[in-house]
Order: sequence, then structure tokens, then C-alpha cells
Amino acid sequence: ATPTALLVGTGRGAQLGILIKGPEVLESTKRVDTVVLDKTGTVTTGRMTLVDVLPAADQDRDELLRLAGALEHASEHPIARAVATGAAQSADATGGLPPVTGFANVEGLGVTGTVDGRTVTVGRERLLTERGLELPEELRRAVTEAEAAGRTAVLAGWDGRVRGALVVADVVKPESRDAIARLRALGLTPILLTGDNATVAGRVATEVGIEAAQVIAGVLPAEKVDVVRRLQAEGRTVAMVGDGVNDAAALAQADLGLAMGTGTDVAIEASDLTLVRGDLTAAVDAIALSRRTLRIIR
Ligand code: ADP
Ligand code: MG
Repeated sequence: ATPTALLVGTGRGAQLGILIKGPEVLESTKRVDTVVLDKTGTVTTGRMTLVDVLPAADQDRDELLRLAGALEHASEHPIARAVATGAAQSADATGGLPPVTGFANVEGLGVTGTVDGRTVTVGRERLLTERGLELPEELRRAVTEAEAAGRTAVLAGWDGRVRGALVVADVVKPESRDAIARLRALGLTPILLTGDNATVAGRVATEVGIEAAQVIAGVLPAEKVDVVRRLQAEGRTVAMVGDGVNDAAALAQADLGLAMGTGTDVAIEASDLTLVRGDLTAAVDAIALSRRTLRIIR
């Protein structure tokens, strides 16, 4: 490949809204056979909405929403934004959300901090039970039901007990289904990768046309990079598309890392290609463009 021909490809990429770190990056796309798609923020909008608040039997709903919302206000996670936004709307009448001190993010599991003098934890069941918060049976059931409905439920607790569940829903981006069909038409295998549970992941996969066998769910952020390594060890050449919320290491490990333009600075740093357009069709265009460019120069 001559550098000039590759630079022409890079210029066309810029026209399509694809920023390529260096011309040599186009080379690495030619053998890609597998495309790993991070679910939240990539296949889905990542803009979740709080759709249900489920307090424990003797728990006041407004207090649950106020404490969980105040804590989530300090987090950037899409689930946290949905909870904080929902809580802020209902707190408007009562004078806003209280401040948080000692905020900490437990990657892929949830958040914790002090609100109104209480140590509040919001996140996955595993995090809350690890912190010694007792989970009432009715809440465990509520979470299972929400997940069966294709929603995501997180738990909130303090003072030794889980106090309620917050149910959020994310929606698939309108372009995702077509983009995945185009990936297949290019002979690529799409894989859906997520920290979310298998039920929610399965629903999204069905909606966008990814087979159940190609869904890898319940993966911690630190394990996402291991999934990419494992696929590479199987002899695959892997492109990874993500938004950088918990997947920057996987983006860097992939043979080709594609960051959604709507993603974080760390994603753009870790990736080879930045997709200025925030939808999956830009990823397909980038792969198709690289192939065309390489065909021209060979
Ligand atoms: P994904 O792979 O879909 O981007 P993450 O790895 O970011 O998901 O998070 C995995 C799970 O951890 C979430 O589905 C949620 O249950 C929990 N979680 C992470 N951060 C938070 C938070 N700030 N508030 C509530 N739950 C959280
Ligand atoms: Mg993510």
C-alpha cells in the first residue's frame, strides 16, 4: 500500500464523518471478520428513562427516589442519568436533591456515597449484597419481573437493607438493525457484548437481528478486554465498537477499535477510528471504506 493511496482513503473518511488516527489504521481493517458491539450507548441510545420506582414494603417512595437520585447525580453512567433526572423532576416540588459526599464508583457494579448522613449504595444485586445490605424477597422478584420485560432494574439501599428498586429502560437506536444487516452482508459476524443481564441483552439482540449464540452478557468492564483476547486467540480478527464507558481497554485491545463520536475522550484515545456520527452505520461505512481503499491500492 502506498501512503498516498491510504491518505486518499483517510480524506474520504473525513467526509463521511470518520476520523482516522493514522493512515496505517486502514490496513488493520482488511482482515476483520468479527465485530464486537458494546450494547449500551452503541447499539442502544444509552439514554435511559426511569420508568418505575419500586420501594420495599415499608419504604417511603419519595425518600427512596431522593437518596438514590442524589447519589446517581454524581455518576455519569446512563442508568445513573436516568435515575437522577427522574428524581430531580419529582424533587423539584420539594426543593431539589441533597448533596453527596465520599462518592465512589464501583466499576460495572454501581455507586456508593453519603447522602443525608447515610451510606447509600445503588447498583447490581451483587454489589448491595456484598456490602451487607439485606434483600427482601419481594424486591428480588420485582427485579426478575422487570428484567423479563426487557428492562434494567438497579437496587438502592442503606442502613443494612435494600430499600427499593429503580427500573430504567433503554431503546435501540433506529439505525442499529440496518447497520447489523450490512455487517453481515460484508461477511462479518456481529457479537453483542454487555455488562447487562442475559435477558435484557437477549431482547436487544432479537430486536437488532443478532443470534442468541452471539450474545455475551454479564461481563464486568475488566473482563471485556478478556473477551476480545479470547476471540483473538480463536483466530479471529476483531473490530470493537464502543462508547468508552467501561470499554476503553477492550477498544485498545481490538485489532480495530472504533469509538462512537458521542463517546468519552478516553474512548477516542483508546481507539483507531472515531465515528463522528453517533450511530452504527458509521462503523459499517468505516469498514466498507477501508476495504474499498485497500482494493484500489492493490
Ligand atoms: P454495559 O456493558 O451495558 O455498558 P456497564 O458495564 O457499564 O454496562 O454496567 C453494568 C451494570 O452495572 C449495569 O447494568 C448496572 O446494573 C450496574 N451499574 C454500573 N454503574 C451503575 C450506576 N452508576 N448506577 C446503577 N447501576 C450501575
Ligand atoms: Mg458501556
